[in-house]
Amino acid sequence: MDEQFDLIVVGSGAGALLSAIRAADAGLKPLVVEKSHLIGGTSAISGGAIWIPLNSDMPSSGVADDIERAFLYVKTCAKGMATDDRVLAYVESAKLMTQYLSEIGIPYRCMPQYADYYPDVPGALPGGRTMDPVDFDGDNLGIKALEDVRPTNPGQLIFGRMQMNAFEARIMLAREPQAKWMLLRIMLRYAFDFRWRLRSKRDRRLTGGQALIAGLYAAIRKRNIPVWLNCPLKSLTIDRNDGDRVSGVIVEREGRLLPLLAKCAVVLGAGGFERNQSMREQYLPSPTQSGWTATPPSCNTGDAILAGAAIGAQLHLMSHTWGAPTLEVPKEEKYRAVFVERSLPGCMVVNQLGKRFLNESGPYPEFQQAMFEEHHKNRGAIPAWIVFDADFRANNPMGPLIPSSVAPDHKLPKDWLGTVYWKGETLEDLASQIGIAPTGLVASARRMTEFAVSGKDLEFDRGGNCFDRYYGDPTLKNPNLGPIAKGPFYAMKLFPGDIGTKGGLLTDLNARVLNVTGQPIGGLYCIGNNSASVMGPAYPGAGSTLGPAMTFAYRAVAHMTGKSIALERTDLLEA
Ligand code: FAD
Repeated sequence: MDEQFDLIVVGSGAGALLSAIRAADAGLKPLVVEKSHLIGGTSAISGGAIWIPLNSDMPSSGVADDIERAFLYVKTCAKGMATDDRVLAYVESAKLMTQYLSEIGIPYRCMPQYADYYPDVPGALPGGRTMDPVDFDGDNLGIKALEDVRPTNPGQLIFGRMQMNAFEARIMLAREPQAKWMLLRIMLRYAFDFRWRLRSKRDRRLTGGQALIAGLYAAIRKRNIPVWLNCPLKSLTIDRNDGDRVSGVIVEREGRLLPLLAKCAVVLGAGGFERNQSMREQYLPSPTQSGWTATPPSCNTGDAILAGAAIGAQLHLMSHTWGAPTLEVPKEEKYRAVFVERSLPGCMVVNQLGKRFLNESGPYPEFQQAMFEEHHKNRGAIPAWIVFDADFRANNPMGPLIPSSVAPDHKLPKDWLGTVYWKGETLEDLASQIGIAPTGLVASARRMTEFAVSGKDLEFDRGGNCFDRYYGDPTLKNPNLGPIAKGPFYAMKLFPGDIGTKGGLLTDLNARVLNVTGQPIGGLYCIGNNSASVMGPAYPGAGSTLGPAMTFAYRAVAHMTGKSIALERTDLLEA
């Protein structure tokens, strides 16, 4: 007889793990199947931030929010590409999910100064909706189990070793007065943690996505929920005698196909299709390369999107990604997303003509879209070049380059010159090395230097809103503008990458998968990047992917156990 479970969860990102935990707490017997040999997918290497309107931390942080505002903001951002009832379901139940996270040992705290990404859209807040996980002590999971968790990105570690949370990252990048002491404290704590360091290379203090996934994995283990690694979903099975309801899955385990029965439901949480080149070419804007994504190799190849489509599920938002500029670092398995450095004063991004074409400090999805638009209009923006001068290089990180005041050029790997970064004594010299127009580059740098003096970017209004200014130098007239005038000058290549795709199976407000006629497919739920995002084409604020993944996981389990979470403010739907 086929092995039988109440719930089969496909994938082990944050939403998938949360649905298994929630199901176990509701009395179901879940199984998690994961394709890779590690747990956590992209969620584990992420910042772990979640975007939670009306979160319970807001009042004590002095932030006021309300349902109307949050609903209006997401609805406007979604541009009609997510149904209003899904949007409302999200803004109403995100805080319930966060309370549950806290109950199972993964508390979050709100970031009062981290602005929504579109401050000019009605309903936006200048801070408070993004939440960062409280640091998690790896000892609570245990060294052995921690080895199962996908390790974080090199880019998220200090000196390749120590973890930092989002509050600390900002203090350091904005070079706030306490930055040096804080760094010293982090280093001393790590250095004196002998007992742990003798046994593991990984930092015991887990932050961001590591804190989130380690916390969820600890909760999984506490409940004895089985997690089968190296066990990819191959297809879904349906029961023809029960209205084509999904009855289970076929997975591959130890080299053979294994049918598994799901008495109650299947939750698909197997990520997007960013690692599938042919799906990228079929759906995404060109040019497109699976290598440009910042997500783990070989994992998210759209398997469960294809499996859903094969049984009649409707696809939606397939031409959209969670876009971000990325750059290549030799010997790293994936490209690095450039979330922050591009916003710091004293750098600019140019095309092949040496001309700026975007606000370098704007939200990363819009940055990626601007690269495509410019490339299609004028060519020469893929790759684009991020250019900075000696002062910037001395004081700021850029991708894998840590400030030259700490690691001067002669200490960098020799083969990085001309592959990771380019360097010229003059801007003309730099331009000729990277094959862009010298006159354009010189003119752009001169203009940026003038803008730094006046504090006003007359071309793209960089630093013109609170989102831009979050990562900048608050002591400057304009925190995001600095001169680009002192040689040597540097350039690095940027690609229109992503941190995942956002199109997938269309779902309803309870994460039920809908078929091509808009009817729910019995027994099948879908969350995270496996499903079409509730945010439509937008990225309303930091945490807009993990927040919905876990919130719809929470709602899905409530629904499958007969305890659906009813919408409260249905009056907003009629407005
Ligand atoms: P994943 O977390 O990628 O999990 C999918 C899992 O499914 C993987 O483990 C994969 O191996 C598995 N899988 C795939 N196919 C199969 C199959 N056939 N069978 C079984 N398993 C399968 N988002 C935020 O909201 N906040 C942030 O702070 C944030 N920071 C980020 C920082 C970085 C550097 C990056 C790269 C991304 C960041 N993101 C952030 C984006 C976020 O991490 C992803 O959007 C999110 O993790 C997607 O979750 P998921 O569960 O859909 O997919």
